Amino acid sequence: ETISGVVRRPAEPTQILAAGELPPTQHFIAGQFQAGSGSETQPIVDPCTEATICEVPQGTAADVDVAVAAAVEARQAWGRKLPKERSEILLAIADRLAQNADLLARLESLNCGKPLMVSEDDVASSIDSFRFMAGAVRAQTSIAAGEYAQDHLSVILREPLGVVGVVTPWNYPLLMAVWKIAPILAAGNTIVLKPSEQTPLTTLKFAELIADLLPAGVLNIVTGLGPVVGQRLAEHPDVDMIALTGSVNSGRAVARAAADTVKRVHLELGGKAPVVIFADADLAAAAESLRAAGYWNSGQECGAGTRVLVHESVAERFTELLVEQVSTLVVGEPTAGSDVEIGPMISKAHYERVLGHLERAQSDGARAALGGGALAGQGYFISPTVLADVPEGAACTREEIFGPVVTVETFSTEEEAVTRANGTPYGLAASVWTLNAQLGHDISSRLDAGTVWVNSHLALANEMPWAGFKSSGYGRDLSAYALDDYSRTKHVMHSKAR
Ligand code: NAD
Repeated sequence: ETISGVVRRPAEPTQILAAGELPPTQHFIAGQFQAGSGSETQPIVDPCTEATICEVPQGTAADVDVAVAAAVEARQAWGRKLPKERSEILLAIADRLAQNADLLARLESLNCGKPLMVSEDDVASSIDSFRFMAGAVRAQTSIAAGEYAQDHLSVILREPLGVVGVVTPWNYPLLMAVWKIAPILAAGNTIVLKPSEQTPLTTLKFAELIADLLPAGVLNIVTGLGPVVGQRLAEHPDVDMIALTGSVNSGRAVARAAADTVKRVHLELGGKAPVVIFADADLAAAAESLRAAGYWNSGQECGAGTRVLVHESVAERFTELLVEQVSTLVVGEPTAGSDVEIGPMISKAHYERVLGHLERAQSDGARAALGGGALAGQGYFISPTVLADVPEGAACTREEIFGPVVTVETFSTEEEAVTRANGTPYGLAASVWTLNAQLGHDISSRLDAGTVWVNSHLALANEMPWAGFKSSGYGRDLSAYALDDYSRTKHVMHSKAR
């Protein structure tokens, strides 16, 4: 069903990017942009206008092999650099990104249809990620050397793993690449990265912008499809670890492909974050917070607060407040103003998937208290939606929709709230809303999620880990924990006997 909501378009066709600002549309291997061995290309589509922006190569297994060989060749020299030396390079990368922040944000908005406020936030956070890792790697110390066995001195060495393969998603193309690149490089590894086939442009631009700052082969990018390029990276005998941010299915495929070589696997997968609201909560604050936390990046956000469980005594009031808040979201093209908050879905296929979820939810008995369908006109725009009266167990409360959709269910007891909040295969994030500090503490300890907010949702810090439980994966992004994940520890014992 089409909703006659408003999609803000620029008054005149506005160019978000000059043609010369696009990155080279080739792989980046051994410090050079190169065409690769394949002949197939992938069109990159603007989701606002459905126009093709450019075409990038669909990499082959042979292209991956060339990139891995470059990363293998670069690993010794990079791994032997002092933390201080790598740190200085990371700081220079941060500065280079900061000098090009506006261009990167515009490019990300063009490729993803993201509102500029979201792209600008992504870029700022990427810059901070490099700065944090540049400091953290110098602060990394291990447990004290000492004598733990008779006449032996034990020393713990922290070593790079070698070559890390990385596969990134389309929802935060630059930011998710940086969440991997910054700690992987800081820890002394080299990289071969495959961006999402839908959104490779900011990753290629990143490589172009910082090419002179890194020795050749330390960072390599091969564009292309998951089951080809990602698969080869995961199974490659010379890749020491594979890190993927994406859906649960892709995580499974990567883990399977990595099994034969018994390489380390790092998976940041999907989410379906519950938002548990007790009767004593500040309902207005919760509704206002969810306006952002449920709909940021047009709901294409793994930690989004998508699944409200609200105490039955305040459910009606809360739903009214949420609808009031969400109905003020400004939907539009990135160039239609700096106040645009919601953009289109990334692709036609994803748009149709989200619409399918909405149709199914409504046939399952949910009521669209707001929105509920596509917005009229060009582009993959969906109306910000609040689904109320959602029956317990409906698919829309269990499956990741990944669009601007929040469901509202009710509960009557604390026990029920916790059981239902934990009742999906996901365990990435959750929030609890109550003014009772003890209740907040108790519930947060019982929620099965890698991040739990109390009276907040979706705030992140580069100092703190981001990681899922259950089917949301394993491995930590951000913080010193990520540095650990991309390092190995070696115990060296020296005999003191004479
Ligand atoms: P996706 O799984 O479709 O694709 C992610 C990446 O995996 C892409 O680069 C894709 O080409 C690659 N891929 C696909 N099949 C593969 C295979 N067989 N082998 C190797 N690589 C393969 O995910 P998406 O649609 O791009 O991103 C959305 C998903 O990512 C959502 O589920 C979202 O929750 C998740 N996500 C999680 C986090 C997190 O931090 N946990 C962050 C962002 C996104």
